[in-house]
Amino acid sequence: MLKLYTAVAAALALSVISCQSGKTSTVTDSTSTKTVTTSTTTEVVANEKPGKKASNAEIIARKQVPVLCYHQIRDWRPKDSKTAKDYIVPIASFKEKIKMLADSGYHTILPDQLYAYLTTGAALPSKPIMLTFDDTDLDQFTIANPELKKYGFKAVYFIMTVSIGRPNYMNKEQIKQLADEGNVIGSHTWDHHNFKKFAGDDWKTQIDKPTKKLEEITGKKIEYFAYPFGLWNAQGLPELHSRGFKMAFQLAEKRDANDPLMTVRRILDSGYWSAKTLRNSIKNSF
Ligand SMILES: [Zn+2]
Repeated sequence: MLKLYTAVAAALALSVISCQSGKTSTVTDSTSTKTVTTSTTTEVVANEKPGKKASNAEIIARKQVPVLCYHQIRDWRPKDSKTAKDYIVPIASFKEKIKMLADSGYHTILPDQLYAYLTTGAALPSKPIMLTFDDTDLDQFTIANPELKKYGFKAVYFIMTVSIGRPNYMNKEQIKQLADEGNVIGSHTWDHHNFKKFAGDDWKTQIDKPTKKLEEITGKKIEYFAYPFGLWNAQGLPELHSRGFKMAFQLAEKRDANDPLMTVRRILDSGYWSAKTLRNSIKNSF
């Protein structure tokens, strides 16, 4: 309960800050009239740089920031299929890979930073990388997140809302905690329906309702999306723009030249890969 109150207080504080940004008030006393300008909180507006937004061609021309995609972080079981093991990174291997990233000088960045970099050329830390986790698996909270914290790393968690609170998946409180600790929560649809097949009510069921649910849980705006299976089609992209999404993440296919922000590339860090293989793949893929 205490945690909930703290979270609500934090959300309230944030909305107060944004409402008061740059507010000007006039204070009158017997001798003078002075104008007091409340300082603008840089944290809230840091990514809203003024100036012209980059064209799609300019966005495509910028060096890509590596984005890694993870699913389950757990040891392989005898019944795991050969294909499944691509999506299951054993715990010791995961720890080794995260340590390798830290030792190699990588700094994790979050979607707002990537968006600012792509659209305005805003500076990024040296050796930027983004870590993303799909599908709401509980081990992302219990195993991955504590490991990332050791190095001061933050990540993006793309939540499939149908799974929230189910056995072996994260619950609302855990998702809220990740958001409160400075990670980003994104949408990964309601039940992992193929984006290329969205029609009619799917836009409500798979996009609008999950966004609302995740905003209720986190108290924050949901502005980033990951395609189930990494699959997308060009005709669906305007639907994401019209719903206020700033960027969407696929897997390693070529970006759409007409909409690079909605087709940001990620590579899957395979369960078969060593830390060395991952390091080489990062260099070769982005
Ligand atoms: Zn998925």
